[in-house]
Amino acid sequence: MSDVKYDLYTFVAGAAMESGKPFQLKCNCGGTVTILPPMQEKSVYCPSCEAHIKVLCLEGDPGYVIGLGADGKPMLIDVQGSKKTPSHLLSEEARKAMLANIPEHKGK
Ligand SMILES: [Zn+2]
Repeated sequence: MSDVKYDLYTFVAGAAMESGKPFQLKCNCGGTVTILPPMQEKSVYCPSCEAHIKVLCLEGDPGYVIGLGADGKPMLIDVQGSKKTPSHLLSEEARKAMLANIPEHKGK
């Protein structure tokens, strides 16, 4: 592969790419990048903070991916361009149910 450095990684629903309609990609800084599918490049620059954002396209519209938060606990990360409810609008129960589906990383 290449040794290009990215500042951020973000997940995008393949369904959004295939829809052919522009959608907003959110940067961690709160800035947004308008994506115009089909995307030629697999990375974009944030117009606000100039972060180089690597776009990881997922098949269909999975809604969320599970990542690790700053505290080392699993957390839901919204897939951008998804039609599903953003994770911060989900009930605590719904979030827990989704996080329960993953194996726990225990020990060292
Ligand atoms: Zn930014």
